[in-house]
Amino acid sequence: MSILDAKIPEGTLEQKWTKFRSSVPLVNPANKRNLEVIVVGSGLAGASAAASLAELGYKVKVFCFQDSPRRAHSIAAQGGINAAKNYQNDGDSVYRLFYDTIKGGDYRSREANVYRLAEVSSGIIDQCVAQGVPFAREYGGMLSNRSFGGTQVQRTFYAAGQTGQQLLLGAYSSLERQIGMGAVKMYARHEMLETVTIDGKCRGIIARDLTTGKLERHFGHAVLLCTGGYGNVFYLSTNAMGSNVTAAWKAHKKGAHFANPCFTQIHPTCIPVSGDHQSKLTLMSESLRNDGRIWVPVKAGDNRKPIDIPEEERDYYLERRYPAFGNLVPRDVASRAAKERCDAGFGVGTSKMAVYLDFAFNMDRYGKIEASKKGLENPDAHTIRELGKGVVKEKYGNLFDMYQQITGENPYETSMRIYPAVHYTMGGLWVDYNLMTTVPGLYALGEANFSDHGANRLGASALMQGLADGYFVIPYTIGSYLSKEISTKSIDTNHEAFSEAEKAVQEKLNKFLAIKGTKSVDYFHKKLGKIIWNECGMSRTEAGLKKSIDDVRALQKEFWSDVIVPGTADEFNPELEKAGRVADFLELGELMCIDALDRNESCGGHFREEFQTEDGEALRDDEKYAYVAAWEFKGQNQFELHKEELKYDNIKIAQRSYK
Ligand SMILES: Cc1cc2nc3c(=O)[nH]c(=O)nc-3n(C[C@H](O)[C@H](O)[C@H](O)COP(=O)(O)OP(=O)(O)OC[C@H]3O[C@@H](n4cnc5c(N)ncnc54)[C@H](O)[C@@H]3O)c2cc1C
Repeated sequence: MSILDAKIPEGTLEQKWTKFRSSVPLVNPANKRNLEVIVVGSGLAGASAAASLAELGYKVKVFCFQDSPRRAHSIAAQGGINAAKNYQNDGDSVYRLFYDTIKGGDYRSREANVYRLAEVSSGIIDQCVAQGVPFAREYGGMLSNRSFGGTQVQRTFYAAGQTGQQLLLGAYSSLERQIGMGAVKMYARHEMLETVTIDGKCRGIIARDLTTGKLERHFGHAVLLCTGGYGNVFYLSTNAMGSNVTAAWKAHKKGAHFANPCFTQIHPTCIPVSGDHQSKLTLMSESLRNDGRIWVPVKAGDNRKPIDIPEEERDYYLERRYPAFGNLVPRDVASRAAKERCDAGFGVGTSKMAVYLDFAFNMDRYGKIEASKKGLENPDAHTIRELGKGVVKEKYGNLFDMYQQITGENPYETSMRIYPAVHYTMGGLWVDYNLMTTVPGLYALGEANFSDHGANRLGASALMQGLADGYFVIPYTIGSYLSKEISTKSIDTNHEAFSEAEKAVQEKLNKFLAIKGTKSVDYFHKKLGKIIWNECGMSRTEAGLKKSIDDVRALQKEFWSDVIVPGTADEFNPELEKAGRVADFLELGELMCIDALDRNESCGGHFREEFQTEDGEALRDDEKYAYVAAWEFKGQNQFELHKEELKYDNIKIAQRSYK
């Protein structure tokens, strides 16, 4: 085991980033034109990084597996993006955003990175506004804000329920501009299947053209992985169906440490699972917790319709347990509280694995305000409710429509049913302050890195981090590496390291096709998902994790002897693509359980039943576990733990309380 060096700059917390930017080595414009950078991924992190680096003058290649960069999973983000602008004058500041994020992550993230994130957050909003992102505005033109979990201020900027889409259109426009000018070469429908290392440095990738099946070699002085999160290891999640871990996992097997793999975010407000046929779960944005109140019946097993259950027979359990934050406690806390109520028999709906999210109270509150604005005196209840519905429709209309289309129930008339679901992965490739992995020249940005969210990410902070990494951090930090590469000429892709990497990819593809077993790739994916959800999901135990490691290893063996992959490798073959991704999930799943077993404490989304307070909250062990767990791949089924010690010099580490 070694202690990892995060390369955090000297100086006070407030000065670190400013000093770093002023002293980081620069690359002059003439040299930038000779330096090639590969960006894998075109979501918010990848598109913003590629556009910024091309604008600076580097030669950039971008890869994504979708048919267009604008179809990256980032487009699904609904609720909003945080920034410490303090437009509401409600006490926000850079320090408060920093503090909320560290506390929200249950004191398992790196102070210097989180402070930098809070510092650059304001600039992200300015950048996006300049690009024309249509953020919601107040009547007077000021950008509007709403509340998200784990904070007591309103700092979330949004564009109705489509914030990710609008932000991605902004970043995509910047990227397209660079493509048009010839500074970026775009490779859509290409999947990176291997990194190439020469003399210890990452020097390129092997990618497969998904339409022809042809393998390609690409050189880069540096490679940036912006390939998103791995929530689909659970099979059912709110992620896009294509989201996967392959790029990060291949990098891991070539020397990049994988950090905190067991830190998964389970989002409290999703449409509950309805049966075994499902392949996808749907998020109801956290923004709904602004105005929605979460409750279950006071009486266990109460089968009345929600509308027939009077106010005094409802248990608004989050407001009861956490009066200071109420419905806006962080996601890990809200998810566990929902599970606790359902496990205790208070769940609702046919499965009894759901709780209610209700808007009646706030529809009436908004209705009264609207009536007052219109000068209506003594409006009746119906008028108030209708006026209130209009306000709610304007704020969350597309989310309400989505709920109705999926469940067949009208959420304006009845409470929504919701239950926690896998949503985001805080774990990812370990990176230092420069966003560089443990392999020189290989970087990870956005959800693909473990970065800033500790053991639990606060809502609306992923978009902030992805864009911070791409627009504001990497354009500076990459200079400290590339400034030493100006005399490295482009390496010919006939180099033996490229040939070996390509050969390994080809052999793996052939191996999938040669098994000719009896079970589909989805069969294995579903089975893996169930193991990980049951034993490494919302709550974990030592015995369960030990068993799940054995179960996953057995499933790996079964996969490699009995999977069936039809077709050939030199054609468009989605089943072959899936086989590769599920094979990597099978290995990652094992590491997630190993990591969860090793961490004998509860923190954030990692809830070990053995370690809880008397009232069921996560019980950290700061003496033994105040570190980032970074795992090194040492051969099949073998991983070695390295630690990055977490020091808190600017924040008092404490038991998290939202009461
Ligand atoms: C339903 C939903 C709603 C959300 N809402 C919010 C919100 O309101 N606010 C918030 O802050 N966060 C939200 N999040 C989280 C946030 O959307 C994501 O964390 C973020 O968008 C990830 O961005 P990214 O750029 O890191 O990755 P992605 O957007 O996932 O992009 C990954 C890119 O990598 C490419 N790629 C992956 N593997 C390969 C490979 N092997 N080869 C080539 N290309 C590859 C893909 O093609 C894609 O272009 C939400 C998440 C979900 C699931």
